[in-house]
Parts: sequence; C-alpha cells; structure tokens
Amino acid sequence: RFDKDYGQHILKNPGISDAIVEKAFLKPTDVVVEVGPGTGNITVRALEKAKKVIAIELDPRMGAEVTKRVQGTPMAKKLELILGDVIKMPQIPPCDALISNTPYQISSPLIFKMLSMPNPPRVAVLMFQREFAKRLVARPGDALYSRLSVNVNFWATCKHIMKVGKQNFKPPPKVESDVVRIEPLIGSARPNIAFEEFDGLLRIAFNRKNKTLRAAFSIKEVLALCERNYKVYCSLNNIPIDESVAEDAGADDADDGMDVDMEDDNADDKDDDDNDNDGDQDGNEDDDDDDMPAFFKELKAVDDAKAASKTPARNPKSKVALVVRAKVNKVLTATKLGEKRARQCDQNDFLKLLLAFHEEGIHFS
Ligand code: SAM
Repeated sequence: RFDKDYGQHILKNPGISDAIVEKAFLKPTDVVVEVGPGTGNITVRALEKAKKVIAIELDPRMGAEVTKRVQGTPMAKKLELILGDVIKMPQIPPCDALISNTPYQISSPLIFKMLSMPNPPRVAVLMFQREFAKRLVARPGDALYSRLSVNVNFWATCKHIMKVGKQNFKPPPKVESDVVRIEPLIGSARPNIAFEEFDGLLRIAFNRKNKTLRAAFSIKEVLALCERNYKVYCSLNNIPIDESVAEDAGADDADDGMDVDMEDDNADDKDDDDNDNDGDQDGNEDDDDDDMPAFFKELKAVDDAKAASKTPARNPKSKVALVVRAKVNKVLTATKLGEKRARQCDQNDFLKLLLAFHEEGIHFS
C-alpha cells in the first residue's frame, strides 16, 4: 500500500507527531508548509495550532487521504493541499514554519531549497535519516563535514531535537531517524551575500574536499568558470578585456605558479569525495550533489579522468586567462588558505575567501 519510491514511512507513534509540531512553537497567526503530509498525522496537529497549513504532497492517493481526514471539520478551511513535487516547484511557498517527516530522497534538495529562499521561514522542524542529520551538525574535521554542513550552519542554526527509532514508522525504514530544528537567519541577521555565490564557492572547494584549495582551484574547468564570470564582471564594470593569445601560449598548466601537490592530493583521492553514504533507507548513496548542475558533474568527471591519466593539460592561454589565474593565485596566497583543505575550513574561512575573490572581480554563480 505504501510506495517505497516516494519514501512513504508513515508515523504510527502519535507522540512523535506531537513533538514535531510542538518543537516548531507555532503561533495562531502562523502559515505552515508541510512537505509530504501522507495520511495527515502531523498535518492535523499543525492545523490545531496554526492559521493555515499548506501541505505539498506528491502522491494523489495520500492527498485524498489527508483531505478526507479533515473533511467536515473546522480544520478543512485551514488546509491548502498542493499536489506535486516540492523540489520541482519554483519556490517553497512563503511561510513562517516548515515541517516534514522528510521523504529521504529529497533531504538534501529540500534543505538547499529552504536555505536559498530570500525570506526563509522562522523555523523548520524536520525529520531525517540519522546519517543525514549528522551531516547537518558536522563540524570542520568531522568525517561527515560537507558542503551541506557549511551551508546549514552559515545560513541558519541547527539543533538536534530527538532520536526516533525505526519501529515508530509503518513500514519501518532500514535506518534510524533524527528530528532537527533549523532556524534560518532572517532579516538583518541573514548574511548579506548571494546564496548562489557562497554555495558556488563551496561546490568548488568540496568537489574534492581532501585536496588543497589551491588544487581545487587549479582544475581547468574551475578556472574556465572563473574566467567566464570575470569577463561578465568586466563588461558590467567597463573594464577592458585582453583576449589575445599570451606569448607563453601552450605552456604547461604548472608553469604559472599554480603548481599543486599532486602526489599528496592523488593519494588522498581514495576517500576524497563528498559522497559519503548517508545510510539511506534503501542503501542508496545520497549526497550534496543531488542538485548538482551539469557543469559541476562535468567538472567532476573531467577531474576524475585527469587524475587517472595524470596528464597535465596543455592549452593555449589568452591574456585574460592568465590574468584570472594570477588573481586566483593571489587570493589563495593572500588569504593563506591555498594549502588548507575544504574539510578543515570553517565558515569564516570560506567567507574570507569569497570576499577576497569578489575584491578581484571573481564570482561563482
Ligand atoms: N507526514 C506523514 C507521516 O509522518 O506520517 C508521511 C511522511 S512520509 C515519510 C513522506 C511523504 O512525502 C509521503 O506521503 C510521500 O508521498 C511524500 N513525498 C515524497 N516525495 C515527495 C516530494 N518530492 N514532494 C512532496 N511530497 C513528497
């Protein structure tokens, strides 16, 4: 009856549904978004406390169940049901609180979608698989520290609320769960930088989190991205761009001061990715790359191929390409972060790096 592909593990312990709603500290004026109401166990409790609940459900059968459950009660008027995939929606509807017994397949994209909202909710109380929840609260140096961990703790505060055993669900999932409470920074507390910029930098840094940042930024495709964005910056600011071929065109990548500790880095590659197994219910790997645009997938593939062949790229360079490489080198040296690895950097390191790149006209979105 329940669809595994939709992550349908229904809460059968009413105490847990109560706790999720209680931990959101809802006010009677609040608009709540619930992702995946299922049969409505959490929904009805939120409806008792809030002004309105917007429930987004992918499975029409479940949509019918939750509608039936409130039919003929005063709650019916307060429920708005949206049938569809929350991840495919252009935006999460504006709300004061977000709650969900999250279908495990959308854990990562749901968090990113919420954090990137210009006006995020005041609070989110979300249940995740334990491994995923651990990544949310991971700190620099922890094995589970990732792009997700940095983003969550940069744009929000995150607190573990409670452990939930698998016997509390029907059917029981393969792994245990955790409830977390995330409070996005809002208003003047929200960092005054574009989400896509900060996240764009993190994507590059965590593409190979055990490599030095200098190695991460010496990848041809990363430099090409920096160059493209630098040209946009120049044209917006009326800065002339010299596209002519430089005299040392065809020089080895390692010739211009961007030499990297390849041996060391390659040695790290074995455990060197951001694809830590989340221990999801079906044993599939899930990672921060769920929402990875095609460019970054290509980047990863090219990087893997290059590391395997160990052949340095030899490409003619335009003068602007050399200018960008020099700027990247300068930033990495000036911030003293070039030899640090993403897994050791904290959010202030990344912020410092981003601001230094911006000073040089280099952007990431
Ligand atoms: N809230 C209910 C409960 O706790 O008993 C059900 C939770 S169940 C883990 C997840 C629910 O999310 C299912 O009803 C499933 O159909 C729905 N769902 C799965 N993927 C979804 C998506 N991309 N967008 C919206 N709902 C989704």
